[in-house]
Amino acid sequence: KPEYAFIGRSNVGKSSLINMLTNKKGLAMTSQTPGKTLLINHFLINNEWYLVDLPGYGFAQRGKENREQLKRIIENYILDREQLTNLFVLLDCRHEAQKIDLEFMEWLGESGVPFSIIFTKIDKISKGRLKENLKVYTDKLLETWEELPPIFLSSSEKKEGRDEILDYIESINNSLNN
Ligand code: GDP
Repeated sequence: KPEYAFIGRSNVGKSSLINMLTNKKGLAMTSQTPGKTLLINHFLINNEWYLVDLPGYGFAQRGKENREQLKRIIENYILDREQLTNLFVLLDCRHEAQKIDLEFMEWLGESGVPFSIIFTKIDKISKGRLKENLKVYTDKLLETWEELPPIFLSSSEKKEGRDEILDYIESINNSLNN
């Protein structure tokens, strides 16, 4: 079954987003952990696809060794998983482009990993600020990329972005089945 993974820096709003995506009627969710590590959680959705919760990256408070080990686990999953269909990279819409996120996406590109971006917590800033921030971010991305990946906006607080993200996943699943 296809897997859709979610990743982002600690505190970006990943748990809230995953709750928003899965906490409604119509989504039958089973928690499964077939992998070798409890750090990576798989949730079977509607018996059709797996939502994969990857650990946050770039913790300052973790020791260097822990951080390296975590990085290896994440990288192994991303590079080895044939079922990984799309990786959602979460970015906090309030912050400017962070080096660690840009480097991570660059690595995804070099490794040929399909990914999309979700800007989180859009309820926290005004529409105008959001537009400005997105422009700065996409300009930055276009310095290294010819094309932008799909971009989604979400607010777990206001329950926004849920349908767009789930529809996107469904459309990829449909194209895989045809
Ligand atoms: P994680 O560490 O990436 O899993 O982040 P969490 O989901 O735990 O969220 C971190 C903090 O941001 C928590 O205090 C959440 O309540 C808050 N948060 C997450 N998503 C949103 C959002 O869409 N809007 C607002 N206003 N706060 C959010």
